[in-house]
Amino acid sequence: MRTISGQTNRVIVVGAGLGGLACALHLAGAGRDVTVIERAGIPGGRAGRLELDGYRFDLGPTVLTAPDLLAEPMAAVGEDLDDWLDLIRLDPAYRAHYPDGSTLDVTADSDRMEQAVAELCGAREAAGYRRFVAWAERLWRLERQDFIDKNLDGPRDLLTANLIKLALTGGFRRLGPKISQFFSDPRTRRIFSFQALYAGLAPDHALALYAVISYLDTVAGVYHPRGGMQAVPQALADVAVKHGVTFRYDTIVSGVETRGDRAVAVHTVDGERIPADVVVLNPDLAAAFSLLPTPAPARLERLRPSPSCVVLHLGARARYAGIAHHNLHFGRAWERTFEEVIDRGELMTDPSLLVTNPTKTDDTAAPPGRQTYYVLAPVPNLTVAPVTWTTAMSRRYAGELMATLEERGYYDLGLDLEVSHVVTPADWAREGHVAGSPFSYAHTFAQTGPFRPGNLHPGLSNVVFTGSGTQPGVGVPMVLISGKLAARRITGDLA
Ligand SMILES: Cc1cc2nc3c(=O)[nH]c(=O)nc-3n(C[C@H](O)[C@H](O)[C@H](O)COP(=O)(O)OP(=O)(O)OC[C@H]3O[C@@H](n4cnc5c(N)ncnc54)[C@H](O)[C@@H]3O)c2cc1C
Repeated sequence: MRTISGQTNRVIVVGAGLGGLACALHLAGAGRDVTVIERAGIPGGRAGRLELDGYRFDLGPTVLTAPDLLAEPMAAVGEDLDDWLDLIRLDPAYRAHYPDGSTLDVTADSDRMEQAVAELCGAREAAGYRRFVAWAERLWRLERQDFIDKNLDGPRDLLTANLIKLALTGGFRRLGPKISQFFSDPRTRRIFSFQALYAGLAPDHALALYAVISYLDTVAGVYHPRGGMQAVPQALADVAVKHGVTFRYDTIVSGVETRGDRAVAVHTVDGERIPADVVVLNPDLAAAFSLLPTPAPARLERLRPSPSCVVLHLGARARYAGIAHHNLHFGRAWERTFEEVIDRGELMTDPSLLVTNPTKTDDTAAPPGRQTYYVLAPVPNLTVAPVTWTTAMSRRYAGELMATLEERGYYDLGLDLEVSHVVTPADWAREGHVAGSPFSYAHTFAQTGPFRPGNLHPGLSNVVFTGSGTQPGVGVPMVLISGKLAARRITGDLA
């Protein structure tokens, strides 16, 4: 593994996103003097929080998987996750609502899940589920050690015994057809393959390797941190403070000063100069490069961004007995939905939506007797659909989503509303996210593993990247790993 050269004692981490925070903790654990500079007033970045009239909303992730990966940065400084966060295991992890009126509760208890699949789709499908679990578990084991949780210096690093095993298990086939080897019912096919969208692709285009997301989602278990998802970065930051990391909130970095091939300081918009031996950059990759005096690699422009999303945050009196904490409401359309959003740059004509109802589990999110709803609708990114999300357009689309929700059983939700807030690609673009997508670059084959932009700067010898634009990729588990990988570039394998 390549590491950076020279002094590495004083490290500045720009950004307190989950990647930056994980990196800071691994570095603090290895004895580095770390300062995190964050433009916002709280840690978390995309895993942020919005408070409105006594309601609290998670702005980004709601599906927390792989808590062992969250425990790692805490363990790096000798702390125990359970002392800092109350993680509630969600059972079911999801409730799938299908257009024919049927539902399927997805639970990590594989015996109960097998039974649920058998009741909905029959014994053959349940046997397929068992085979899927065994396959997906194996895939995660093979990928994690050699390809995800490892700094890759180039394609040669892939040449391990596990590569052949991975190929033999079908990891390099397409996800959709692979899932169809286990399942024949369209309902089970959807629930075990929709996660391709998290990787920015349709199931028929994503590599089967990405079934590890379905594995983490449907087999390993989903959690809700009491206090909301922003409690996660807050806990990481609190632990970091306890172990000597300095945080500078409400401080925007305007640029990185370099001398020869080295970064020597960061500058803030307030005109402060903060010297550094090493600079770690957590913003989206294009935004990170814009802080450097050297030009960004031409390849960045050509990378394919993931689709984006609109998120509707609702606070209401209405409560619905038939839903779970996380609900997937599938439309009748399937392949067409991916084509519309990813390829044609159109809004979904028959939407599939994620509706999260955090107050189902955690009543701290709303005033007494009230509910919060988080409605996520995939929409095209601003590259494939260069539309201006004006306020009028956002309102119109929010109205369409409300109508869809009412049709799908959320009766009188509109009447009962106390607060609402809509976030669109225009907001993500304002945050500096590539193509107005908060999901960074898609995980196509050419943007996966060692082919994804690396975490070492190509020319500056002490600048490291962390976060979803770099390896291993998008999502809370991956960016936590990316923080560790960035730290290892600085400390070697000790961190
Ligand atoms: C709506 C939505 C839903 C999601 N759902 C899920 C989910 O359910 N499960 C899941 O696992 N993942 C989910 N994700 C993805 C996951 O949230 C992200 O992949 C992850 O949080 C990205 O973390 P990061 O560290 O890469 O970047 P960020 O969180 O963007 O961190 C970068 C930080 O840098 C700061 N910064 C930027 N520029 C500057 C500057 N010039 N000076 C100082 N600071 C600066 C930013 O303020 C930010 O705090 C979701 C994301 C979104 C937005």
